[in-house]
Amino acid sequence: RVVSAAPASPNEEAIERALRPKLLQEYVGQAKVREQLEIFIGAARKREEALDHVLLFGPPGLGKTTLSHIIAAELGVNLRQTSGPVLEKPKDLAALLTNLERNDVLFIDEIHRLSPVVEEILYPALEDYQIDIMIGEGPAARSIKLDLQPFTLVGATTRAGMLTNPLRDRFGIVARLEFYTAEELAHIVRRSAGLLKVAMDEAGGFEIARRSRGTPRIANRLLRRVRDYAEVKGDGRITEAIAHKALAMLDVDPQGFDLMDRKLLEAVIHRFDGGPVGLDNVAASIGEERETIEDVIEPYLIQQGYLQRTPRGRIATLAAYRHLGVAPPSRDGD
Ligand code: ADP
Repeated sequence: RVVSAAPASPNEEAIERALRPKLLQEYVGQAKVREQLEIFIGAARKREEALDHVLLFGPPGLGKTTLSHIIAAELGVNLRQTSGPVLEKPKDLAALLTNLERNDVLFIDEIHRLSPVVEEILYPALEDYQIDIMIGEGPAARSIKLDLQPFTLVGATTRAGMLTNPLRDRFGIVARLEFYTAEELAHIVRRSAGLLKVAMDEAGGFEIARRSRGTPRIANRLLRRVRDYAEVKGDGRITEAIAHKALAMLDVDPQGFDLMDRKLLEAVIHRFDGGPVGLDNVAASIGEERETIEDVIEPYLIQQGYLQRTPRGRIATLAAYRHLGVAPPSRDGD
């Protein structure tokens, strides 16, 4: 299954690129992060220095990649983009680092998935703008130091806790992205509808926003699916009624939960008596990877108060029972 918040296809990635805000001003929501970055970027520009290294963390689709592009644009420098799993060997990273120009931004997505040998050469690069590389092989091999241009690393990860301590300690700016409010998502949907030239009324846009799991990527995706529906079943205009029907067809329920969300809540309630149940048991029961549950599915359920994470395991809340129309267990005699 395609993880619901990950970009699905090359075509979708192209659309995402087109919908990406280019400047901090156009970046909706995340007020705290935006304000911080505005100050730090302004100061770095004034001193003509590289911005401190930035760590962005939060669930997929909340705007980490977008923000890294914006940081480079606001600094007026180039952006080089890669990801943890792509950098297999130290020389892959060395090649990128030595090609950076003064004050450039290097964006490493999924930075928690760097291999330890690659991470090793990143440390001196981050600290002193230097790398040690091995030349030659066998007994003749020797290590030489190379100077780099000052640069900014922007690292993105779904959970800050997955980074090694030495890596995390090297980021001067750490920003946690939060789920967006319905109002913020409505703003994003309106903007995207304008760019895609979709006719949509206020209530139609709000209906999509409200049911997008607090996530801009999902909001933009639902907007395009609802547009398809409006073109085939209606006159092309997205109204509240059209959005309602289209989202029902897409199995997005009134709370914005999708099939996987409901599957998880149902498993905890029906198979594990509402919990507490360990993550591995939930994963086995719904046939989903542990990481996907932790990074993609449960953060929103927890934030919305449908699931609790406790030291003894996951627990379904009363809201979850209510949502699924199941009578909660009587807690008498517990
Ligand atoms: P991540 O890297 O966190 O997975 P992205 O930066 O790729 O997320 O964002 C996914 C999509 O959501 C982008 O195409 C962009 O159009 C939209 N988006 C994300 N954050 C915002 C925002 N703050 N304002 C407007 N659009 C946003």
